[in-house]
Amino acid sequence: MALKFERFVSPGKGNGVRATAGIRRGELVTSVEPLASCVSLKRSREVCQQCFARRETLLRCSQCKMARYCNVTCQSRAWPGHKRECKCLRGLLPRVPTDSVRLAASLIFALSSPSGSSSEELYSLEEHESHLNSMSEQKKEGLSQLASMLELFLHQEGPNLAEELKTALPPSCRDFLCLIAKITCNCFTISDGELHEIGVGLYPSLSLLNHDCRPNCVMVFEGAKLQLRAVQDISAEEELTISYIETLSLTEERQKQLADQYHFNCQCRRCQTHDKDELMLAGEEAAWRLLKEAHLSDWKTLLESSLHLLSAAGAGVPDENLYRLRITDMALDAAIHLQLWDEALKYSLKTLPGYRQYYPDPHPVHGVQLMRVGKLQHYLENIKDALDTFKGTRGEMLAYNIMKLTHGDDHPLMVDLKMKMEECRCEMDQQSPH
Ligand SMILES: [Zn+2]
Ligand SMILES: [Zn+2]
Ligand SMILES: [Zn+2]
Repeated sequence: MALKFERFVSPGKGNGVRATAGIRRGELVTSVEPLASCVSLKRSREVCQQCFARRETLLRCSQCKMARYCNVTCQSRAWPGHKRECKCLRGLLPRVPTDSVRLAASLIFALSSPSGSSSEELYSLEEHESHLNSMSEQKKEGLSQLASMLELFLHQEGPNLAEELKTALPPSCRDFLCLIAKITCNCFTISDGELHEIGVGLYPSLSLLNHDCRPNCVMVFEGAKLQLRAVQDISAEEELTISYIETLSLTEERQKQLADQYHFNCQCRRCQTHDKDELMLAGEEAAWRLLKEAHLSDWKTLLESSLHLLSAAGAGVPDENLYRLRITDMALDAAIHLQLWDEALKYSLKTLPGYRQYYPDPHPVHGVQLMRVGKLQHYLENIKDALDTFKGTRGEMLAYNIMKLTHGDDHPLMVDLKMKMEECRCEMDQQSPH
C-alpha cells in the first residue's frame, strides 16, 4: 500500500502528519504493528499476550505464571520476545510491575534484539516529547518511581544489564525517567471489539498525529495491529488528526484532560466554538445536577439508583443531556451485567439520540453501540427492529454503514455483524408466510 501521508511541521503544533493525496472517507490510511506492546495487567487473565485475542481459558507460562496464551502456537511465537521478560518477571515476584514499566521493558528488549527495528521508528522515538519541563513535581515524582521500578525490573536479568541495555536506546531515551515520560505520553490504548481497553502499545510513527476534538481519522485495533481510517474526505496537504481522548464530553472537560495528560491547550474548531456544549447541558439545571453529582457503586445498586435518578430528572432533562446520557449508559452496562435484557434494550435505545448528535462523523463508539442495540433486539426476538438497527433503510448511518467506514469490510467485528444480519434475514424468511 503506497502511503498517502507524510510528516510536516503543523503551524502552532510542532510535528504533524498530512495527506499527500486525497483520502476518501472510510479509506484505510495505514495499518501498523506495534514496536512494543503489552496486555494490561487487569486483563492479563483473559487476553492472550501474543495475539491479543480474548478467551475464556488461556494457557499460563509455567515459569513466570503471569503471561497467558491461547495455545502452544501463540506461546512459542511469543517466546523469543517473552524469554527475557519472563526472567525479569520471575525475579521480581511477588511484585508485578505496572503496564508502563512492562511496556518500556518490552521496548528495550525489542530494540536490543538482533532483528532490531527500523531506523525511522527510532528517529521518531527520539523526537517524542517527554514534557518533563512543564510537568508538576507530583507527576514527576510518580514517573521517577516508575523509572526506579524499570531499573529494578531489568536488573533481574543480570546486574549490569540495565546499563548495557540503555546503549540500545536513542540518546534522549537512555535516562529512564525521560523514557518513561515519553512512553506515558505517547503510548496508545489498545482496545478490543467492544472498545474495552486490553493493552498498551507504541506506534512511534503514529505518535506524530495531532489531536482534534472532531478528528478526520479514527483508530481501530485488530489484535494489537492499529488501523487508521479516514472518517471525513481529506484533501491533499490537509493535516490528519485523531482524538487522544473520549470526545463525548464538554469543552472544559476535554481541555482539562488534554492539558493534564498531554500538556497542550486544544485550539481546535470544536473547542473554539464550544460546539454542542449547550445541547449537552440542555434541560433544567437543578434536575441534571443530581445526575452529574451521583456516585454509583455495584451493579445492582447502580441500576436501582440510576432508575431512580432518571425518573426524578424526568422530562425536564432531555436524552441528549450529557449527564443523563452517562447515567443511561451506566444503567445499560448494569442491566447487561445482571442479564436484564428488556431493561438493557430500553436503556440502550435511550442512548442513541445522544450518540447520533455527538458523533456527527462515523465513529467506532457509535457503530459498536448500535451493534449492541441490534444484538439485544435480536435476542429479544424483535428481528425486524434488529435488522433495521444493523442495516438501516435507504443508506442511513446505522451499524453497518458506520462500521464499514470505521472498521472496514474485513474486520472480525464486521464479519460478526454481517453474520448477525444474515441470521436476521433467515429468521424473517422463516416467519413470513409464503
Ligand atoms: Zn493468542
Ligand atoms: Zn513467562
Ligand atoms: Zn479541541
